[in-house]
Amino acid sequence: MKILVAGAGGFIGGHLVNKLELLGHDVVAVDIKGKENWFMEPKNSEPIVADLRLLEPSIKYTENVSWLFNLACDMGGMGFIENNKAKCMESVLINTHLLQGAKENKVEKFFFSSSACVYASFHQNSLDVEPLKESDAYPADPEDGYGWEKLFSERMCRHFYEDYGLNTRIARYHNVYGPYGTYDGGREKVPAAACRKIIESVKNGSYEIEIWGDGKQLRSFTYIDDCIEGTLKLMTSNYNSPLNIGSSEMISIIDLYKSIIEVKNLDLNKFNFKYNTNAPQGVRGRSSNNDKCLEILKWEPSVSFKIGISKTYDWILNEINN
Ligand code: NAD
Repeated sequence: MKILVAGAGGFIGGHLVNKLELLGHDVVAVDIKGKENWFMEPKNSEPIVADLRLLEPSIKYTENVSWLFNLACDMGGMGFIENNKAKCMESVLINTHLLQGAKENKVEKFFFSSSACVYASFHQNSLDVEPLKESDAYPADPEDGYGWEKLFSERMCRHFYEDYGLNTRIARYHNVYGPYGTYDGGREKVPAAACRKIIESVKNGSYEIEIWGDGKQLRSFTYIDDCIEGTLKLMTSNYNSPLNIGSSEMISIIDLYKSIIEVKNLDLNKFNFKYNTNAPQGVRGRSSNNDKCLEILKWEPSVSFKIGISKTYDWILNEINN
C-alpha cells in the first residue's frame, strides 16, 4: 500500500514509518522540520518537508494514497502546552486540510492521533483516580488549547465519516515515551525529562533534581512499541469512534524518578529532590480505562514501565554522551 505519514520526522511518526517500511509498504513521509532534525529517516523514501497547515501540500501528498496517518502536531509536554495554547490550536489546520485532501483523493482510511488531554478535567482532579473511559470526554472540559484542538479535530473526523463516508480512526494516546523522541529544549515530556535530569545530575555531581509539582500526581505511560502496535490494530479494525491507546499501569511522578534510579542501579540516597509547585503540572491523576480497547482490539498495552524506561534512558544517555 501507499501510506502517507504526516509528522514522520517526529517521535511516533518516525517509529510508525519504520514499522510500515518493515511491513513492505510504500511510505510518503512528510514533516515541516528540515530532514536533519527528523528523529529517524525513512529507509526507502526521501523525507518530504512541507507545512501541512496549508491545503495545497495536503491535496498533493494524499494523491494515490490508500491509508493516511496524521501524527503531525505542534505540541510538547505540559511546559509547552500550558504556555503555547494558540500554537497548539493552530494544528487544527493540519487535520482539517488533511481531511479535505483525503476526501478529495478518496483515501481509504484516515487515522487521527488524539490525546488523553481531551478528557474532562473534573474527572482528573483527585488522586483517587478513576481510569478514564472514552465517554468521559463529555460534557466537554478538556485541557485548554491542546485538548480543545484534539476534541474538535476528533469531531471533524466523525463528521467527515458521517457526511462524506471517509473511513476515520481515532486513537486517544496516553503519555507515549521511548527512544527517538524529544528529551530537551522545552517540548519534552516527563519520562524523557526525568531521564535527562537524572543523567545530568549524575554527570555534574550535584544529584539535585527539580520535580514539577509535589510529585504525587499520578499518570500512566505507554511505551512506543505498544503505541505502534495499538495504532496498527486500530487502523485494521472496523471501529470509527475514539479509542484509548494507553497503559493502565499508574505511577506517581516521584515514583517515576525513583523507578528510573532503581532500574539503572544508581544510589537513591545520593539524590536530593526539590519540588517546584509553581511549575506546570497538569491534572492531578490520570490513567486509561482499557475495557473498550480490549473489547475492540482484543489487546491492551503490556510493556511495563520499568522495561520501557530502561530502554529510553539508555538511548538518552547515548545521545547526551555523543
Ligand atoms: P512530535 O512532536 O515528536 O511529532 C509531531 C511532528 O509533527 C513533529 O515532527 C513536527 O515537526 C510535525 N509537525 C508540526 N507541525 C507540522 C506541520 N504544520 N506540517 C507538517 N508537520 C508538522 O510528537 P509525537 O509525540 O510524535 O506525537 C505525534 C502525535 O500524537 C501528535 O498528534 C500528538 O498530539 C499525539 N499524541 C502524542 C502523545 C505523546 O505522549 N507523545 C500523547 C497524546 C497524543
